[in-house]
Amino acid sequence: MPAVYPPKYVRNILVTLQARGHQAFLVGGCIRDMLMGRIPQDWDISTSALPEQVMEIFPDSEPTGLKHGTVTVKMNSRLAEVTTFRSEGAYSDHRHPDMVSFVGDLTTDLSRRDFTMNAIAFSPDGLMADPFGGVADIEKHLIRAVGEPQLRFEEDALRMFRAVRFSSRLGFEIEQKTLEAIRLKAPLAVNIAPERIRDEVQKILLGPAPEKVFQLIELGLMDSYLVSRPQLIDDGGSLTRLPKKALNRWTCFCVLLENYGCIDSVEEFLLKLKLDKRSVRVCRSAAKILTDPACPQTPVEWKRLLNKYGVDAVSCAAVCGDRLRDGNYQKQLKAVLKSGECFSLKHLAVTGKDLMELGLCGRDLGEMLLFLLDYVMEFPQFNKREILLSLAQGTEE
Ligand code: ATP
Ligand code: MG
Repeated sequence: MPAVYPPKYVRNILVTLQARGHQAFLVGGCIRDMLMGRIPQDWDISTSALPEQVMEIFPDSEPTGLKHGTVTVKMNSRLAEVTTFRSEGAYSDHRHPDMVSFVGDLTTDLSRRDFTMNAIAFSPDGLMADPFGGVADIEKHLIRAVGEPQLRFEEDALRMFRAVRFSSRLGFEIEQKTLEAIRLKAPLAVNIAPERIRDEVQKILLGPAPEKVFQLIELGLMDSYLVSRPQLIDDGGSLTRLPKKALNRWTCFCVLLENYGCIDSVEEFLLKLKLDKRSVRVCRSAAKILTDPACPQTPVEWKRLLNKYGVDAVSCAAVCGDRLRDGNYQKQLKAVLKSGECFSLKHLAVTGKDLMELGLCGRDLGEMLLFLLDYVMEFPQFNKREILLSLAQGTEE
């Protein structure tokens, strides 16, 4: 009997389906989590009822994935996904089944699932179906493919990433034959959309064992994104010590990859993985700051960095730098930001218009603004309109 029990609205859906003569079970991740005493993130229900029948029984439902037999049912204002037992045809593109057919059989439905721990069904009346030994594997902390691992990874290459992600999240080992199959089938990862790889990598980076991201690399799963693949990467625990923030962890990951010669350009790597433009910009700049051997020491140096790369990137570099270089960057940066001292043209006490009135224009005007900005970064007490105007006049004369 699982250690966690499904909430009432989920039990209601199951019981309603059963009362109408259909089989209905909880399946997938929620059973795994329940057996481990964890609260599941979502509740997936599998049923012998066809999608139209599910929608008829629950008028307050939405056909959210009819192609795959999925209907989202609303019960007591909560949502659960109800999917018809199904089997999948061949996977010619290593990503999606060519066809899906609805079958009246729970075991067939469980056999299409990725890992034994995710192929257990349970109904709250105590009925448990575990045709692939998932409960025993959960007890042994093992991730084992359902059926022949090589074939399962040939069908859907994303499963190889899921294996590593579950291993990092649950602290489970990947079973030997499943692991060997990943090594062999890793080249099929080229068929996976970069966005899906990015999402898997990010989930690992933000999980409890972010260093497992290097297992993806060691297994060859990221080869099409790297220029070289080292056998072993030891991050010295730096990823784990970072706050669970995507920008921090991506930056640190990129810096480590650069240090190991796995990538030539942070920007290219992240763009290829389809990270959003802002994240790419921040991570690229933060990585650049971190890979520069000269560390900022004085407030002026911090202000120059802030001016060049922006607050987000410098803050990200400071957080990572404290972990990667055992620095005291965050404290120094905080003091500079708190001082309110000027580090950008936006906060300079004179504007381009002021300088135009002094007769400056074009390139000279631009150069003068930069000169004044550099001056006030060094002498913040002089960021005053009259002083800067007379300085500009004096310099010009
Ligand atoms: P999480 O807690 O991360 O949501 P989960 O096990 O619920 O974990 P989902 O991606 O929500 O994972 O998928 C639900 C279930 O669908 C899985 O438990 C598994 O049985 C099945 N499944 C999902 N993706 C695949 C896949 N690529 N191949 C085979 N079965 C899959
Ligand atoms: Mg889930």
